[in-house]
Amino acid sequence: MRIGRLNDLGRERPFVVVDGEAVTVDHIIGDWTRTHLERGALETVRDADLSDRPRLSLDDLRPAAPIHRPGKVVCVGLNYAQHAAEIGAASPAEPIIFMKSPDAVVGAHEDVIIPPGSERTDYEAELAIVIGRQALYLESPASVRGLVLGYSISQDISERAWQMERGGQWVKGKSFPTFNPLGPIIVTPEEFDPADARVWCSVDGEMRQESRTSDMFFQVNHLVWYISQFMELCAGDIINTGTPAGVGMGMKPPGYLRPGQELRTGIEGIGELVSRTVAADLSTSG
Ligand code: MG
Repeated sequence: MRIGRLNDLGRERPFVVVDGEAVTVDHIIGDWTRTHLERGALETVRDADLSDRPRLSLDDLRPAAPIHRPGKVVCVGLNYAQHAAEIGAASPAEPIIFMKSPDAVVGAHEDVIIPPGSERTDYEAELAIVIGRQALYLESPASVRGLVLGYSISQDISERAWQMERGGQWVKGKSFPTFNPLGPIIVTPEEFDPADARVWCSVDGEMRQESRTSDMFFQVNHLVWYISQFMELCAGDIINTGTPAGVGMGMKPPGYLRPGQELRTGIEGIGELVSRTVAADLSTSG
């Protein structure tokens, strides 16, 4: 299955893809939220007869974040060997995990706002795991089977100066509003194999990142098992699995984002995020 949410004149609605077109399902499940997923929303939609429902072109709709208000966004750092090398970091013995504010999550084609005073806003294309069922203290990576709702694309936007030069944890450079475009859809495990998918990111048409998920140190099942040793994972939670080489910080000279650029972030078999970078408008902040 392929599921998502659309923004219909400010009203966000869940949909499922049927024969390549979107069919809204809010009349039977409410929304793609933690609560509704725990009540079996995916199974409800899978079993529903939607043959009489109106269909919408995926190309015409405005995608919203495919999960409404995810409970948490857990991120994995330095999970690709070449990325660790380009920023001069050692390969990790265990997964590096950190948190990002879930409020940073926005839809697949929303603007990315560069924060006031930022000179080192960077991009990170990532495979996102979306959790489908509660996971805590799992016995082994094999126990992860059946707990993943599906896979999506994350753009883990990062302000490097505040991530790395202000002391403490990376969260400082990771949590600004709009810093996690997500989508455009979630693809469930029977339709997407995360083991070896192409991942890419371009800036103004210049390919900056191009790799495959097979280059990850720690694969999906290992990551979900590992994180479940430290916290309860719940339906709708997002795990950003780390970024390949080619980030702006690793370029010589560095290739950070500036307002007015087009960022495209894709994963083979899922789709593409298309983001425009804009300067923060301080007149509208509260
Ligand atoms: Mg990242």
